[in-house]
Amino acid sequence: MDTTTLSSPADLSDQDLLARTMQLAREERQATALLIAHLAEVDARRLHLAEGYSSLFTYCTEVLRLSEHAAYGRIEAARAARRFPVILEMLSEGSVTLTTVGLLAPHLTAENHQDLLEQAWGKSKRAVEELLAALAPQPSVPAVVRRLPTPRFSSAASALTAAATPPQGRPTTVAPVAPARYKVQFTATAETYEKLRLAQDLLRHQIPDGDLDQVLSRALTALLEQLAREKFAATDRPRGGRPTAPGSRHIPAEVKRAVCLRDGGRCAFVGASGRRCTATGFLEFHHVKPHAVGGESTIDNIQLRCRAHNAYEAELSFGPSTLVGVRETPGCYSVRTEFGHHRRPPAGGNDGQPKRGIRTSFQ
Ligand SMILES: [Zn+2]
Repeated sequence: MDTTTLSSPADLSDQDLLARTMQLAREERQATALLIAHLAEVDARRLHLAEGYSSLFTYCTEVLRLSEHAAYGRIEAARAARRFPVILEMLSEGSVTLTTVGLLAPHLTAENHQDLLEQAWGKSKRAVEELLAALAPQPSVPAVVRRLPTPRFSSAASALTAAATPPQGRPTTVAPVAPARYKVQFTATAETYEKLRLAQDLLRHQIPDGDLDQVLSRALTALLEQLAREKFAATDRPRGGRPTAPGSRHIPAEVKRAVCLRDGGRCAFVGASGRRCTATGFLEFHHVKPHAVGGESTIDNIQLRCRAHNAYEAELSFGPSTLVGVRETPGCYSVRTEFGHHRRPPAGGNDGQPKRGIRTSFQ
């Protein structure tokens, strides 16, 4: 960065300082509008998927180093600008801001966008909110009065007492408080609360202070084991990968289990520049060599994919229309904790096989 530019403001006259500041603000607006125009094109070409990112948001935060808030606002504006390019010009000249575009975007239609954007010209966030309130009045928020249980127990190691009175409107909170430490706060039903107390009591000989982190960790481990049995046919006594019947699209349970273990419960798509996708939610089983061209449901030919990458590769192979009628069953989750030691080495490719396929969801 040119340090002379940074140090020069002190040397400017008042008039020049104001003029220079105004010029910089104008240049910033223009740069932002240009960035948004490029983001819109990246989004349209879905280059973030090709690079190994499951969403444009992840690409913006990890590659472009935008803050989450900045990424969200720019993506929202980019998608609105794809529909109504005039927004870019208005952002550049400062007649709308990212905030007001975000407010307006859900209400803009081909019929009303010119009128609505004109009305929002130069208006503050509050004024645009009032404009939209008149356009689409919202029903009054119903009053809610709810009694929260008074904690009956007190333990130095327990956060149950604090969890009994969360702030109104934010019943669940998860926030990092230090590296590898998270504060988790939520409102529990009386039934859940009793189960938690019972689990603490039954584990008292192993966890004398009833530490909630340890108790919940054990409970979740047991839950993950159960879910793995249900969803991945996980077992302590695997029978080994049996080849499926030639021509069958069915993925045997042993193959699913082995693929989940090998891929570490994480999307195995690798982008053009070698970046492996980090998505662990909404995973699907993917035929590397498509079933339609003879790809078998074997461990070598099946990989985990997030939904975005499975759809992306299916479209690369067969075009968008092939997605119609393809079964899509949500119901996926990360098993990284459970199978962390079995994670596949960083994927550097697909063993020379083409990265094409059709989607097969978890069953
Ligand atoms: Zn992915």
